[in-house]
Amino acid sequence: MNKPLLDIENLFVEYKTDKGFSDEKQVIHAVNGVSLSINKGGILAIAGESGCGKSTLARSIIRLQKVKSGKISFEGKDIFAMKKNELKEFRKKAQMIFQNPYASLNPKMKIIDILKEPLKINTDMTDFEIMERISEVVEKVGLDKNCLDLYPHEFSGGQRQRIAIARALVLNPEFILADEPVSALDVSIQAQIINLLRDLKNRFNLTFLLITHDISVIKYLADRVAVMYLGEIVEIGNTQQVFLNPKHPYTKALLSFAPQIGGGNKKERSELGGELPSQGNLPSGCKFHTRCPHCMDMCTKCIPPTVEISDGHFVTCFLYMKMKK
Ligand code: SF4
Repeated sequence: MNKPLLDIENLFVEYKTDKGFSDEKQVIHAVNGVSLSINKGGILAIAGESGCGKSTLARSIIRLQKVKSGKISFEGKDIFAMKKNELKEFRKKAQMIFQNPYASLNPKMKIIDILKEPLKINTDMTDFEIMERISEVVEKVGLDKNCLDLYPHEFSGGQRQRIAIARALVLNPEFILADEPVSALDVSIQAQIINLLRDLKNRFNLTFLLITHDISVIKYLADRVAVMYLGEIVEIGNTQQVFLNPKHPYTKALLSFAPQIGGGNKKERSELGGELPSQGNLPSGCKFHTRCPHCMDMCTKCIPPTVEISDGHFVTCFLYMKMKK
C-alpha cells in the first residue's frame, strides 16, 4: 500500500485572543481533532468558509503554529520530534505558497535575492550552482530571466505569484502547501496560475495540500477534497465522489452557491441559514446543528459518527448512521 507522505492524526489547535475591552482572554478552538493523510503525488484540497480553521491547519503543518495535541508525520517522521538536521531537511522538502503575493515578497529585495535566500540558508551550493538553479526555476514558472534584477513592485499580481511559486520550488521540494494561491489575483490571471500549478505538479510529481474556498479551483486541481467546518473535517473523499454525490448538509450548501463562492460571503451565510458560530464558543453536539436544515434533537447533544459511504468517502453526520458500505 502507498504510504502517505503527510499524515495528520487527531490534531487540536487552540490559541487565546483578547475578549473585547476586558483583560480576559478567549480560547479559540481553531482545529478540533483533524485526521487526514496525503499520498505522494496527490492533491488534497481543504474547503470551507473563512474562519473554519483551514489556514491554522496549514500553518501547523509547516510548524508556524503551535498545536495543543495530536501528531503530524512527514515521510513517517513526527515533525514535532524532529532533530535540528531533520527539521532542516523537512523545511527543504515542504514549502508554502501564500495567498497574497503582494505581502509575501519582501519589497526591499530584488527578485534574485528573494530566490537566493532559501538556497543560501538551506544548502551548501556554490554561487555558480545557485545561479544555475535560479535560472532553471525562473524558466519553469514562465518568467523572463531579466526579471531577476527588479523589485516585486515592478510586477503584476500574476507575475508576483509566479515569483512566489519560484521561491517555493527553488529548494526542489516534494510537498507544497498552497494557501488560497489565486484568490488575491484578477480572475483573468487565476486560470494561468492554476494551469501553472497543475503543470508543475505533473512534471515534478509534487504533492499538494491546497487550502481554498473556491470550488472551481478544487474541481480543476484536486484529486481529493476534505470539507472543514469549525475546525473539523465533516466530509472527505475523492473530488468526484464529494462533488457529484455530496452527503453532508454543509457540503451540499457549499456546493449550492459555488458560483458566488469567490466573492460573496453574504450570500454564503444567508443560504446556510445563519452566521458561522464563534470558534471561541462552539455549539454542543454536531457543530453544524445551529445552521443545519435537518437538525434533530440528538444533533444538539451528541457528537455524530463518521461513516464510510463508499470507498474512501467519509461523512460525519447522524443522517448516515445506519448506512453500510
Ligand atoms: Fe445536520 Fe444532525 Fe447531520 Fe449535524 S448531525 S449535519 S445537525 S443532520
